[in-house]
Amino acid sequence: MALIVQKYGGTSVGTIERIERVARKVIAARARGDQVVVVVSAMSGETDRLLGLARQIASRPEPREVDVLISTGEQVTIALLAMTLQKLGCPARSYTGAQVPIITDSAHGKARIARIDPHQVRAALDAGQVVVVAGFQGVDALGNITTLGRGGSDTTGVALAAALKADECQIFTDVDGVYTADPRIVPTARRLDHITFEEMLELASLGAKVLQIRSVEFAGKYNVPLRVLSTFQEGPGTLITYEEQQVEEVVISGIAQNRDEAQITVSGIPDHPGVAYRVLGPVADANIEVDMIVQNVARDGTTDLTFTVHRNDHERAMEILRGRQKDLGAREIAGDSAIAKISLVGVGMRSHAGVAARMFSVLASEGINIRMISTSEIKISVVVSEKYVELAVRALHEAFALDRAPHR
Ligand code: ADP
Ligand code: ASP
Ligand code: MG
Repeated sequence: MALIVQKYGGTSVGTIERIERVARKVIAARARGDQVVVVVSAMSGETDRLLGLARQIASRPEPREVDVLISTGEQVTIALLAMTLQKLGCPARSYTGAQVPIITDSAHGKARIARIDPHQVRAALDAGQVVVVAGFQGVDALGNITTLGRGGSDTTGVALAAALKADECQIFTDVDGVYTADPRIVPTARRLDHITFEEMLELASLGAKVLQIRSVEFAGKYNVPLRVLSTFQEGPGTLITYEEQQVEEVVISGIAQNRDEAQITVSGIPDHPGVAYRVLGPVADANIEVDMIVQNVARDGTTDLTFTVHRNDHERAMEILRGRQKDLGAREIAGDSAIAKISLVGVGMRSHAGVAARMFSVLASEGINIRMISTSEIKISVVVSEKYVELAVRALHEAFALDRAPHR
């Protein structure tokens, strides 16, 4: 008998009919003799709807109250799924994050799971119940409701699988696996049978929202076998493993795009030692994460510093810097939120030179200007104007022949 954790995303539980489909899949897994823990998201659109209500009240509502509000989405789904399972003759019990309990730190809106007490869940499983757990939420040491960040139900699923030492964590969604690029942008994108944790972590960090970054980190750290599958069609999905594919040709595994960032340029700053610190220190002090950074070679004793932050932090970062413009002696502080980051990811890059040059030549031939570049061992990212995202991703997908299966 295996223990399986199945996570179903928002689209998969978007209507009562779809919840019934999920219930039948859970019952089928149980009929194969497995114990099943189900983690569910809020019904599709619900988290955004709730956030919209909060924004009608305040532009920056108190994070503790936002968590109380948005955690309700998942609570609705667990009750509806448990009722459906019961109606179909399957014993089931629902649990909120606090009831499990899933203990987190107190960082509202981006809480990290500190520990999970699996005793109750295990007892319910041993009593023959299907356990239905609310994704995305937990409780801090003081009893406050917390949430784990957008897409956080993936992390609930993986963390429960780790705590229960489950045999597999299955992420059911609206695509039948991890693709070489977002299939909504590239119609010829191809499903990957396997992908390494390392590559999946990069893809998730660089914008492929199919799995939340932390869920991949968690799965890698605790060695949880992780698979992405479709709720709506049968198939093997994509297995995320430690093994690298033994395929010589595979240099790039996937392309990701991220439209969540904004760019800030501080120009004409006197080029003294410590310039970068004087610009970025106050930004970091405000708890704003900086992603890419480029500092130009100084000319006439002054230099420019360009960096990117999350779009949600753009205004705040601009305010902070404008407040210090005089102190910094900067000529200008300019922002642009209509940017996008496009990244190529693949462990094969380690042993292949020339990928970056090829990427730049493809973008040049499409007339797309590159604003920033950053590279690591297994990825290359460029920042371009947002209006070129689709064009760039499709052109790169084609140029690197990602639609064609590699020969073994
Ligand atoms: P869920 O609600 O089930 O959590 P998400 O919307 O969070 O689903 O994630 C699934 C979506 O991720 C897909 O519909 C797809 O558009 C998008 N996506 C982005 N990049 C990829 C990729 N490389 N492979 C598969 N899906 C991707
Ligand atoms: N409902 C949450 C969200 O929309 C969590 C999730 O779906 O994973 O981000
Ligand atoms: Mg998701």
